Amino acid sequence: MDNVFYRNINKNYLEVERGEGIYLYDTEGNRYIDACSGAAVANLGHAHPRVIEAMTQQANKVAFSHLSRWTSAPIKELSALVAKLAPGSLNKLYLVSGGSEATEAALKMARQYYLERDGKSGKYRIISRWKSFHGNTIGALSMTGDKRRKKYTPLLLDFPHIAPAYCYRCPFGKNQESCGVECALDLERAIKMEGADNVAAFIAESVGGAACGAIVPHKDYFKIIRQICDHYDILFIDDEVMAGFGRTGTMFSIEDWDVIPDMICVAKGMSAGYSPLGGVIAKEEIYNAFKQGSGIFVHGHTYGGNPLSAAVAVAVVKTLVEDELVEKSRVVGAYLLRRLQEELLPFWYVGDVRGKGMMLGVELVRDKVTKEPFAASLGIAEKLTLTLVKHGVIVYPGTGNADGENGDQFLLAPPLTMTAEQADELVAALAAGFAEFEKKIAL
Ligand code: PLP
Repeated sequence: MDNVFYRNINKNYLEVERGEGIYLYDTEGNRYIDACSGAAVANLGHAHPRVIEAMTQQANKVAFSHLSRWTSAPIKELSALVAKLAPGSLNKLYLVSGGSEATEAALKMARQYYLERDGKSGKYRIISRWKSFHGNTIGALSMTGDKRRKKYTPLLLDFPHIAPAYCYRCPFGKNQESCGVECALDLERAIKMEGADNVAAFIAESVGGAACGAIVPHKDYFKIIRQICDHYDILFIDDEVMAGFGRTGTMFSIEDWDVIPDMICVAKGMSAGYSPLGGVIAKEEIYNAFKQGSGIFVHGHTYGGNPLSAAVAVAVVKTLVEDELVEKSRVVGAYLLRRLQEELLPFWYVGDVRGKGMMLGVELVRDKVTKEPFAASLGIAEKLTLTLVKHGVIVYPGTGNADGENGDQFLLAPPLTMTAEQADELVAALAAGFAEFEKKIAL
């Protein structure tokens, strides 16, 4: 018994001792493949010498100065780097300390934008999607569309939600041939219902993560979303807290749809787990509206944009670019996806293996043909992930179980430094774990 108030009080936690590359070691000396980079965070793997060097150097200079008074060389350098890498005119970076703070900042920025631009605003609603995750603070949870909301209702506002872009279980009963991208058109229905004058923004994960296990929307999805947002004068917020900074095989995942959002929320991969950091990359037009308006955006969090985290992020982003890790994420990710499909899809309880780059998901089903999910009470995804731990693999915990709303899925999101040989090692360990689990759940 220790004094930690754990997230799941009745669970046995592994105690981490150290990390090296794609591996984590517990205090008993066991080695695990960190196949989810913690929570799709440790994109450069563990104990990366270049990042440690940057941290040490910055800590020796100054670790903390508050944004209310100080700017710093690391935040200027990071913002310049990000501006160069982000699409279109998204060239202003508002720094916070994590993903939930970033989505909260985006929703406030969207509301205030219209006030700054027009001098008045009734536009306050943010439309989001079911099967989405935007963070655990109450505002972010209000946008979130999965079971994490349930115990905290009523939420701040009843944020309207539209259908997910979930091709494996199309909410409109369509298939590849009959698809008219109805899930994107659903946004227009929601805007008309709310009244465009009441809606400030639409927020979506470009590739869905924690609530759905790597759902990749249809190739036309975001083009349609962009057109609808433009037509109704609504901002499009792209939540790339998980997908950003190379995870899906492009620097920003939205690039694959050739669409430019109005804001991109970032966190995790930007500092790759070495120090907490998040941000909103805003397009110039939004920044200018604030500059020409009140000049003030009140969303300060104490640790936001501290020099230590920013220096870490500078080292991380430079390493991503110079070591061509985004390209590697695409190539090794495509190889890993193919190998996973070959090895895991033959199991009778694996319905779908999907994703993009190094953001991959596995969905478990009771019946492959009908796609019938397992009974929620079985907690299948969680049990499988425990079997995988015995085989030396850590995956992002199953999103299923509890109330069954999400089905049984889990995420694979290895460090972008993973080699093809290490991908083979991962697939072999997963296949062994899946085979053992198959015996346990013979129905
Ligand atoms: N948005 C997305 C898409 C996420 O995946 C997450 C976390 O998983 C968040 C927001 C919240 O980020 P954080 O846990 O850093 O608050």
